[in-house]
Amino acid sequence: MDLNYTAEDVAFRKQVRTWLEQNMPRQIQNLDERKAWHRKLYEGGYLGMGWPREYGGQGARPMEQAIVADEMARAGAPAPTNSLGVGIVGPTIVVHGTDAQKRRYLRKILTAEEMWCQLYSEPNAGSDLAALRTAAEDKGDHFLVNGQKIWTSGGALADWGLLLARTDPAVAKHKGISCFLMNMRQPGVDVRPLKQITGSSEFCEVFMTNARVEKENQIGRLGEGWGIAQTTLGYERGGRALARITTYASQYKNLLNAARRLKRNGRPILDDAVTRQKLGRIWADLEVERYGALRTLTMLERGEHPGAGGSLTKLSYSEFEKRFMELAEEILGPYGQLTEGVPAEYRLEVDTAVGDHGTWAYAFLWSRAGTIYAGSSEIQKNVIGERILGLPKESRADRVGGTR
Ligand SMILES: Cc1cc2nc3c(=O)[nH]c(=O)nc-3n(C[C@H](O)[C@H](O)[C@H](O)COP(=O)(O)OP(=O)(O)OC[C@H]3O[C@@H](n4cnc5c(N)ncnc54)[C@H](O)[C@@H]3O)c2cc1C
Repeated sequence: MDLNYTAEDVAFRKQVRTWLEQNMPRQIQNLDERKAWHRKLYEGGYLGMGWPREYGGQGARPMEQAIVADEMARAGAPAPTNSLGVGIVGPTIVVHGTDAQKRRYLRKILTAEEMWCQLYSEPNAGSDLAALRTAAEDKGDHFLVNGQKIWTSGGALADWGLLLARTDPAVAKHKGISCFLMNMRQPGVDVRPLKQITGSSEFCEVFMTNARVEKENQIGRLGEGWGIAQTTLGYERGGRALARITTYASQYKNLLNAARRLKRNGRPILDDAVTRQKLGRIWADLEVERYGALRTLTMLERGEHPGAGGSLTKLSYSEFEKRFMELAEEILGPYGQLTEGVPAEYRLEVDTAVGDHGTWAYAFLWSRAGTIYAGSSEIQKNVIGERILGLPKESRADRVGGTR
C-alpha cells in the first residue's frame, strides 16, 4: 500500500481545490441547477475523468479521480447528476458499443442532456439477477419489450435506460439474456415512482408493455447480455473511495460537536465514558476504512484489479456506515429523528443528489441502502467465502450479487 501522494498528485489537488473555490455553487435548488453544475464540472475536465479522451473523458488515473471526488467532499460540493449514466452506462457503451452508439450517446451523458437509468432488477430477480423475466422479442427491425423492472434509481427523470431482457427462454437462464438501450420516453413505458422510507421517491417501478427497442440499440451480440452486465467497468472504479471517508470524517466532526452541546443527566454527553468509548471505536473503524480505500487505490494505480477484494471493501464500508449512523442516533436523540426545523448545530452539510436535506434522520435511513445495493452483505459474504477463503460453493452458481 502506498500512503504517500506524489508531487504531481499534490499539485493536482491544489488545482482542483482552487477550481472548486472559484466555481462551486453554494446551494442547488432544482434539477436544472444540478444539470448546470454537472455541465460545469464536465467542461472543467472533472467529470467522466476516467473515460478515454476520444469520448469526452480525460483518460485520468484512478488517483486523480479519487482526488477530485475527495476535494468535492471536503468542500461540501453538490453532487453532479446522471450518476448511472456516467458511472455505468457510458463505460458499458465505451467497451461494448458500436461506433455509431458511441457517437450518438456518450457526449450527451457527460453533458447531462440525456439522463439514464439502469433497468436490471425485477421483483423476483435481484440477487439472483439471471432469473429475470422481462422479454425482448425479435420483430425483424426492432424488439418488442414486455415485463417489469423495480428499484430503478432515477427512473422518473431518465430519458434512456440500460436494459437487460430475455431474448431466448429456451437456453440456460444466463445465456438467454441480451442488453439494450431503451428510450424511456415512449408510450409503452410506464414509470411509477415508489415512496421510500426517507420520504423521497428516487426509486421507480418500470412497466414495459410492447415497448420498442430499435435493432441499432442492441449492445453486443444477442445472448451476450449476461457477460456485458458482469463486465467490471473500471473507469470510475475506486473514484469515491477517499471521498466517502472524507464525508464520514466531516459527519463525525458534526457528531462530536453535537455531543459537546447536548446534555445527559446535566452533563455534556461527550463526558460520558461509555459514549466516548463508542465514539473512539467509530473513529478507529473509520481509520480502517481509510486504509482500505488507500489499498484499493494503490491496486488501481498499479493497474491491478481488486477482484473479489472489492467485496471486502463494500461489505466493510456499508456495515460501518450503519454502525456509525446508529451511534449518531443514540447520541442525538430527537435531533437525530427530525426531518424539519433542525437547529443548524444538529444538521449535516452533505449533498449526495438524492435529497438528504442535511439531516441525520435522512442519513441514518439512507445508511440502510448500502448493505443492499450493488450486492447485499450476504452476497458479499458469499463472494468472500467462495473466492477469497476458498470455502465450498453455493449451489446456485449463476447468482450475480446485485446491481447498482
Ligand atoms: C439504493 C438502491 C438503489 C438501487 N438501484 C437500482 C437500479 O438503479 N437499478 C436496478 O436494476 N436495481 C437497483 N437496485 C436493486 C438492487 O440491485 C437489489 O435490491 C439487490 O440486488 C438485492 O435484490 P433484491 O432487493 O431483489 O433482494 P433479494 O435478492 O430478494 O434478497 C433478499 C434477502 O435475501 C438475501 N439473499 C438473497 N440471495 C441470497 C443468497 N444466495 N445467499 C444468502 N442470502 C441471500 C439477501 O442478502 C437479502 O437479505 C437498487 C437497490 C438499492 C437498495
